[in-house]
Amino acid sequence: MAKSKFEYVKSFETEDKLLPNCWIVVRVDGKSFHKFSEKHEFQKPNDMRALDLMNRSAVKVMEQYKDIVIAYGESDEYSFVLRKDTEIFNRRGFKIMTYINSLFTSSYVFYWKQYFKEVKLKSPPYFDARIVLYPTDENIRDYLSWRQADCHVNNLYNTTFWALVIKGGLSNIEAEKRLCGTFSSDKNEILFSEFNTNYNNEPEIFRKGTILLRKRIKKPNSEHFKRVIVPLHEDLIGEKFWNTHSEVLSI
Ligand code: ATP
Ligand code: ATP
Ligand code: MG
Ligand code: MG
Ligand code: MG
Ligand code: MG
Repeated sequence: MAKSKFEYVKSFETEDKLLPNCWIVVRVDGKSFHKFSEKHEFQKPNDMRALDLMNRSAVKVMEQYKDIVIAYGESDEYSFVLRKDTEIFNRRGFKIMTYINSLFTSSYVFYWKQYFKEVKLKSPPYFDARIVLYPTDENIRDYLSWRQADCHVNNLYNTTFWALVIKGGLSNIEAEKRLCGTFSSDKNEILFSEFNTNYNNEPEIFRKGTILLRKRIKKPNSEHFKRVIVPLHEDLIGEKFWNTHSEVLSI
């Protein structure tokens, strides 16, 4: 095709090829989900339908992009880790980030009804995204540990906050004041002594978030294997997880 006189504007586009040999993380996070969750009457502190929908959307992204080796989700966020040597989209950062974010968001809408049934989607949900490179295995492990520690801190806070409000009859402001300046041990104690709740017995999906991994499992009555994406809700900060799933970092 002949070039038009306008073609030169293309040259204003900047190079966005990512550094080779680094883990690539794309993290998406819901925009104003504090409000979005209220508007759609999410159960507090943890609405299982919302977590299932987040996980379903993340599985869709992993099905589409096979170079994602592990994903981690909590609350309204999901992190996707692409293998260090991926050549997907020629390692163009904008392409990688925007396709993942867009597919995640559209899947969230696409699967909404499957989880929220009669609850009508009242406004289009949307997510921000960032892309970060981590050069070492230690860095990528620390990144995932950071997100899981965040899940823990937030969930302990939210579990205590909503116990004070729903079971304790405090207003939101009173509950917030009560928790101001408290340590983890104080929150555990409030839950235990005032609400007969042992935090460690709360569901693991709430406390640990969701890890999505690829596994090969044997088909029944056959020598063949199939590849599946499995959700796990376990500690990934300690050594055990990485010893058990050593294939994740070895690619
Ligand atoms: P921002 O746009 O800056 O991300 P935000 O309101 O989304 O603002 P976040 O820090 O991302 O703030 O927090 C997400 C909020 O969404 C949580 O604090 C919680 O209120 C709500 N939320 C997310 N997932 C759930 C869930 N499964 N059940 C109940 N509430 C949820
Ligand atoms: P890529 O993923 O590289 O963007 P693509 O198939 O989307 O691949 P584009 O160059 O973006 O390629 O072209 C979009 C194509 O979508 C058009 O060539 C056309 O076939 C189709 N298309 C888009 N909008 C319409 C429309 N309104 N009516 C009919 N076809 C359309
Ligand atoms: Mg935020
Ligand atoms: Mg958010
Ligand atoms: Mg968030
Ligand atoms: Mg196109």
